[in-house]
Amino acid sequence: MWIYLNDRFVPKEEARISVFDHGFLYGDGVFETLRAYRGKAFMLNEHLARLEKSAARLQIPMPVKRSRLSAVVAESLEKNQLTEAYLRITVSRGPGEIGLEPALCRSPTFVVIANPFEPYPESFYTDGVSVAVVQTRRNLPEALPPQVKSLNYLNNILAKMEATALGAFEALLLNQHGELTEGTTSNVFVSLGGRLLTPAQDCGILAGITRNLVLQLARELKIPAEETRLTAADLAIADECFLTNTTVEVLPVTQVDGQRIGDGRPGEITRRLHASFRDSLDRLLAGR
Ligand code: PLP
Repeated sequence: MWIYLNDRFVPKEEARISVFDHGFLYGDGVFETLRAYRGKAFMLNEHLARLEKSAARLQIPMPVKRSRLSAVVAESLEKNQLTEAYLRITVSRGPGEIGLEPALCRSPTFVVIANPFEPYPESFYTDGVSVAVVQTRRNLPEALPPQVKSLNYLNNILAKMEATALGAFEALLLNQHGELTEGTTSNVFVSLGGRLLTPAQDCGILAGITRNLVLQLARELKIPAEETRLTAADLAIADECFLTNTTVEVLPVTQVDGQRIGDGRPGEITRRLHASFRDSLDRLLAGR
């Protein structure tokens, strides 16, 4: 397996970074997770744009231009002979003396890892998964903006640990006002009386690329959709619920805090949106 590290491909065993890297010392860096289907990275430009935006917010200079980044992603898939894959791009502040000052680091560290994609169990989609509304609150946007996909995922990790302890697949986090935000690595949607609802960006979420695509697909399917404010009480009365992210796509949720959602089965709107996502995949990969 080949890893792209800074300016070249190295074997996995030789892909090492400094213990002085500020990504390691302080979580000072940004990342993206992408999915490749049939050897082609999906929504590549959207992911690279978000990576650049995250880096800009932290004033980390991008190590390479967008066109080179795209080429490295394609080369990572080719060199590792991968067709169904996921990719992790990391850009950290880079190595420097100990201390928070970004100027201590002269050049960012840039890593691209491409791995084979292991599909989730079929039962996730046929039966749905469970979620738990956890005690850990989503980062205050004024403290650490959730729109920045940073290497500092401790907020999400604390929530994930709670969910795991409760036997749930994913945690859902509330913000400081008690409004629903998102999962630890996913966005959340509910359907209520035929309307599709998802927390608005200003509730303090990462604007998921899959979330945006699903909102667009809902418009195409004429399913009324709204970015709004939701609470845990809305989950309890929802007809359907699902999670979105780059690797799960559209994943039905059939239980929240041990209670059934709707009739406890994946719902029709969820199914239609996932089918439509799969169609759009074919369309977008074919360049149409
Ligand atoms: N929210 C968080 C906190 C995430 O980490 C992720 C992805 O990992 C998402 C939402 C979903 O984003 P995307 O659809 O771009 O994968």
